[in-house]
Amino acid sequence: MKDIDKGPVLVSACLLGIKCKYNGGDNKNEAVLNFLEGRDFIKVCPESMGGLESPRLPSEVEAGYDGIDVVEGRARVYGKDGRDLTEEFLKGAQISLDQAEKHQVSLAILKESSPSCGGNKIYTGRFEGQKKEGQGVTAALLRKNGIRVLTEEDL
Ligand code: SF4
Repeated sequence: MKDIDKGPVLVSACLLGIKCKYNGGDNKNEAVLNFLEGRDFIKVCPESMGGLESPRLPSEVEAGYDGIDVVEGRARVYGKDGRDLTEEFLKGAQISLDQAEKHQVSLAILKESSPSCGGNKIYTGRFEGQKKEGQGVTAALLRKNGIRVLTEEDL
């Protein structure tokens, strides 16, 4: 991680121990907390900021697609009950990008495998507990706008 500058970092709130995860829990991660020591950081939870409550049903990007397809209008995000949550996911991603730009962030540390925050993996869209290569909606929007996205698994 020597190539990472010391500027402010955008970080998934659940990695800090905030209970905004779909099941009402968190994803507190010591490696992330250590990485952030002495740095400025801005916490975001795109799904909460998009208007979704915690706890909530799990959501997945439509099967066969990933977050960039949602950002570019080719795919949707659905809750496990079939509810179309695309607008909430896009809203949360845009607020996260706005925060990143406001604070001149060039690096985000996001939660792997989330349909919003996943950087390298997401679930398949079939609610079968299987993952595939792909990124979440917020990770895709941030990358599209030039922000480097890592996950807790990269630290
Ligand atoms: Fe964590 Fe991101 Fe899910 Fe919010 S949207 S609970 S920050 S993984």
